[in-house]
Amino acid sequence: MTLFIPASCDWSSNGNAGKSWRVVLVFIQYNPTSCSGCVVNDLSLYNDLSSLELELFCKRQLTDNKMKVAALLILGCLVWEGLAKPKFPEQEKDPNFWKGLAQSSLKNALTLQELNKNIAKNVILFLGDGMGISTVTAARILKGQMSGKSGEETQLEMDKFPHVALSKTYNTNAQVPDSAGTATAYLCGVKANEGTVGVSAAAVRSQCNTTQGNEVTSILKWAKDAGKSVGIVTTTRVNHATPSAAYAHCVDRDWYSDGEMPPEALQSGCKDIARQLFENIPDINVIMGGGRKYMYPKNTPDVEYPGDKKHNGTRKDGRNLVGEWIDRVKDKRGYYVWNKRDLLSLNPNNVDYLLGLFEPADLAYELERNEDADPSLTEMVEVAIKILRKNERGFYLLVEGGRIDHGHHEGKAKQALHEAVEMDLAITRAGLLTSVHDTLTVVTADHSHVFSFGGYTPRGNSIFGLAPMMSDIDQKPFTSILYGNGPGFKFVNGSRENVSTVDYEHNNYQAQSAVPLSMETHGGEDVAIFSKGPMAHLLHGVQEQHYIPHVMAYAACIGQNKDHCRTTSGSSSLSHISPTLAILLSVTWFLC
Ligand SMILES: [Zn+2]
Repeated sequence: MTLFIPASCDWSSNGNAGKSWRVVLVFIQYNPTSCSGCVVNDLSLYNDLSSLELELFCKRQLTDNKMKVAALLILGCLVWEGLAKPKFPEQEKDPNFWKGLAQSSLKNALTLQELNKNIAKNVILFLGDGMGISTVTAARILKGQMSGKSGEETQLEMDKFPHVALSKTYNTNAQVPDSAGTATAYLCGVKANEGTVGVSAAAVRSQCNTTQGNEVTSILKWAKDAGKSVGIVTTTRVNHATPSAAYAHCVDRDWYSDGEMPPEALQSGCKDIARQLFENIPDINVIMGGGRKYMYPKNTPDVEYPGDKKHNGTRKDGRNLVGEWIDRVKDKRGYYVWNKRDLLSLNPNNVDYLLGLFEPADLAYELERNEDADPSLTEMVEVAIKILRKNERGFYLLVEGGRIDHGHHEGKAKQALHEAVEMDLAITRAGLLTSVHDTLTVVTADHSHVFSFGGYTPRGNSIFGLAPMMSDIDQKPFTSILYGNGPGFKFVNGSRENVSTVDYEHNNYQAQSAVPLSMETHGGEDVAIFSKGPMAHLLHGVQEQHYIPHVMAYAACIGQNKDHCRTTSGSSSLSHISPTLAILLSVTWFLC
């Protein structure tokens, strides 16, 4: 026995002709032996039916005894249609609403003529790994929809930053870059080859003997050398590509510990990245993220997952890097924590050094995080800033939303976008704990992904939802979010999988891609740089990625370009003080 029922239905505007129906009918085969009773076999498309035509069509398809079922389903379809109409706030119909909004933005823009030329006491870089511009837009919509709005009009925290530039992300040897070469650019100020961290483009990936002499230092080191406190917070392992360029010089990003290194590299004297974390810049004040297993001798059971061998220590040299670190800081108000409870029980006022390693490798996705055991990125950032800001010379903090990238690589857009939203919440928290008068905050990405969303979706459409039309080629629905390549490519019986038959809003749904790949790839287009605080206006226009730390260092009067700092004699701002001095001098002159 077979039934045609509407499985989904949408309307679309048809110009002067008014609305038209677009209805997917599911061909259902009733199976009396099956408990569920039905199997979805096929989908058929019937475009542009009026509701009357739809009803007539269904009547023709159904026998009398199925009419009630069909009528109910059609009724359901009509209700759905009513709910699915694009909704937007009533005020948006009023031209004055838009004019007022624009005037308010204009007023804000005009105030930017008074440039913030203060010296940046504090510098914070938020790095969304893989957070291309399409990801920023989609995360914005998601954030709005998470609070019950249609989403598009929402402002991310980074959207509120007054200055925006574009960053050209290519590596010296790659048009579409990776996270290691790009990290060297935005942390060390030098473009480099893919796969390498903290070394110039003269170094060759995986060739140990090309390391020596080609090391380049990062802004984290420049800040430390200038007496600032420094910190690293990431949702990946702390020796992953992004954070590692802040402290390591390594020709291979995958040399997490000596257990991952080839014997020749070890014999030639190259050091693994975990070891370099503790040896190169020994006084990093705050280190938080994952990566415990790379710090312990091979086969050491993990403290959180002692029964799971894949989380055992990986080090061949027998060293316990965490134990060594604890010994080194025990008289310097240093603390090691591996869970949220211990982290949040610390009083940051009594902590000068903190090592927090919350997972054996990367932290869990925010959507899958154990809220009792593991801190969020926002919680880590808050603790980090409270520890670092005690230094009267200020601080440098690198924060990485590192798993946006991983979500995209897996084709799991929902995971990626929730990671981006979480990073935005961390940016908000950082803004509450600092001041734009003395803190330069920069938000950017290392590279993009081949992630897109489109399909003429109506206002307020779920960012994970369907486009309001069928493909006119294969007559099947499609999700708004799609990837250029990746693991979501699925052919069923020789044609594109019908997404109506799967839960495309599931956390781990892999959005369809044009080309099958087990791992979706990075994208090559520019990414955004958002900035606020002292000298933020220098991040303008279209720039090479390696320009970023040069601006940050200039703003903070650290690193190579400090000529402008001497004229301000270390004061917070010459431009701020001059008018005051001028008034005092005038009054003195007048009185005399
Ligand atoms: Zn990646």
